Amino acid sequence: MADNPVIIAGGGIGGLATALTLHQIGVPCMVFEAAREMRPLGVGINMQPNAVRELYDLGIGETDLDAVGLPAREWALVGLNGNDVYSEPRGLLAGYNWPQYAVHRGHFHMLLYENAIERIGPNAIRLGCRVTGYTKNADGSVAAHIEHADSSASEMQGALLIGADGIHSAIRAQMHPAQPPIHWGGAIMWRGTTWAEPIRSGSSFVGLGTHRQRVVFYPISHPDPKTGLSMINWIAEVTLDNSEGWKRSGWFREVPVSDFAHYFEGWTWDWLDVPALIGQAHSVFENPMIDRDPVPTWRDGPVLLLGDAAHAMYPTGSNGGSQAIVDARMLGSAIVEHGVTQDALAAFDAQLCGPISQLVLRNRGAGPFGLLNMVDERCGGTFDNIDDVIPPQERAEFMATYKAAAGFAIEKLNKAAPTIPPGARVRSAVPA
Ligand SMILES: Cc1cc2nc3c(=O)[nH]c(=O)nc-3n(C[C@H](O)[C@H](O)[C@H](O)COP(=O)(O)OP(=O)(O)OC[C@H]3O[C@@H](n4cnc5c(N)ncnc54)[C@H](O)[C@@H]3O)c2cc1C
Repeated sequence: MADNPVIIAGGGIGGLATALTLHQIGVPCMVFEAAREMRPLGVGINMQPNAVRELYDLGIGETDLDAVGLPAREWALVGLNGNDVYSEPRGLLAGYNWPQYAVHRGHFHMLLYENAIERIGPNAIRLGCRVTGYTKNADGSVAAHIEHADSSASEMQGALLIGADGIHSAIRAQMHPAQPPIHWGGAIMWRGTTWAEPIRSGSSFVGLGTHRQRVVFYPISHPDPKTGLSMINWIAEVTLDNSEGWKRSGWFREVPVSDFAHYFEGWTWDWLDVPALIGQAHSVFENPMIDRDPVPTWRDGPVLLLGDAAHAMYPTGSNGGSQAIVDARMLGSAIVEHGVTQDALAAFDAQLCGPISQLVLRNRGAGPFGLLNMVDERCGGTFDNIDDVIPPQERAEFMATYKAAAGFAIEKLNKAAPTIPPGARVRSAVPA
């Protein structure tokens, strides 16, 4: 084990992308993950072109991503009457130099895990180790407090500690003891996957309904050559009165379809049968749409928050997972420039905390689904031609504003220099 490694709390998408990045630039690191075993948990998640660019730079390419998902071709909003509100091409078809990938979150997570084990070694990723807090040492380094699966406790000394421990982050709780509880705006999501025929472009993200009640679905696998069926990820969502807060048990639990199918009765068009889609799922998970109020800083001396621990956001913009990967790369870039130092963490914090916190709040206001709010407000969701309700230019401007804020602006991304120049290594780091 290297002396004074960078310690990473949490081996989710953000923690593993950080570990792979640090390894790439020659910085020793260790990941402590609370789960006793890594399992392919979750359903669909989108990797936006800005994140796919970073994955390619990490040596995770098209073949790897095609094994856990498929390139997205279209993003579309449809009104309750089945008529199109908005659609646009995505990824390469939109003019990005990199595709957008719709992937199975669990299989993608395992891809990162397998790569991390292979490149950094199994000893660098410790499972069954929950980081419960930290102590800042007088010399500027940090000790992470670790609780092991057998309930024993230990301390790990490191140069820096990266809190990539998700929305319920223990590191964030210590850094911001007065932070408000989790924020729930009233929306409940039920998520599942069903094998079905892909529609429209064959790889379309479709959001259908209103901003208070909708389904979102998109394929997360290439079609099976024998059956033509793809694994379709779907999210059924309703917004309820949240004045009494979240009263059901837990944040994430398996539920029967009968719990929520009644909300979507009659949601059938000649091109889509929502009751059949949700009714044929193997298992369904309920989780409230939650995030956290932004905090003024993600840094406390040698400790930094990243990914959902820093900026858990509503999934309306499909950018939580992508941002975790971009965070990891931006941190790597700051470390290349400033070394394994607190200055690197300060540079990261100064660059990202403000704008990404704004994105969290923007997603709370429905993110790109805001167009459905506009349709609802202007015509109650019933229209023949969307141009009469929201003129094309207004729709295009709305989406352009959202994408610029989320870092999806095409020209800017295409022209941007790599976040980490190829072959860059930290000067003081261990040679390759
Ligand atoms: C089980 C699971 C299923 C998910 N499913 C979906 C999905 O279907 N669709 C979607 O859009 N998003 C899903 N997400 C969220 C999505 O993965 C994240 O928003 C995004 O990838 C950001 O990743 P992250 O690494 O910051 O956080 P996370 O993915 O939440 O990873 C955090 C990791 O830290 C570990 N951890 C937590 N506390 C500690 C601690 N104190 N010490 C050490 N380790 C700790 C967790 O076990 C987890 O592995 C899921 C997350 C999880 C954990």
